[in-house]
Amino acid sequence: MKLETLQDLFVHELKDLYSAENQLVKALPKMVKAATNEELRAGFEEHLEQTRNHVARLEQIASSVDCKLTGHRCKAMEGLIEEGSELISEDAEDAVRDAGLIGAAQRVEHYEIAGYGTARALAERLGFDEAVELLTQTLEEEKATDEKLTDLAESTINAEAAALSPAG
Ligand code: FE
Ligand code: FE
Repeated sequence: MKLETLQDLFVHELKDLYSAENQLVKALPKMVKAATNEELRAGFEEHLEQTRNHVARLEQIASSVDCKLTGHRCKAMEGLIEEGSELISEDAEDAVRDAGLIGAAQRVEHYEIAGYGTARALAERLGFDEAVELLTQTLEEEKATDEKLTDLAESTINAEAAALSPAG
């Protein structure tokens, strides 16, 4: 697709997010399984539900601006998920793996926050009010997820990992 207008770029950003969110819907159940800490596991489960809704919001935006979202693959999310699965396959102490999973998940959130921030700015410029509203809702959920992960790391999981004695 040739990017001639700001609207073309907006659609391109939506497609990237759509691919990213769909890949995440598939990856999050593996994060749930790999997490040991109950709060972390519940957090991933909650974000899986939110992520399904992020996909639905993007579809709603696409119908409001009359565009298609298929046919593009987000390579950045593919790479972030690949790094996450490498971490999951490492032989690790539970708390240490949990700490690593938080880092992997926060990389994903930051990528999404950048993408949604960009898409919302374009929607504002283009006067797509419904899109602005829906993108804001998702952006706020991504930010809240990121903050929850920081809190969980700093309040509990990093301390649990730090308390492990080095293997003899
Ligand atoms: Fe999302
Ligand atoms: Fe991307």
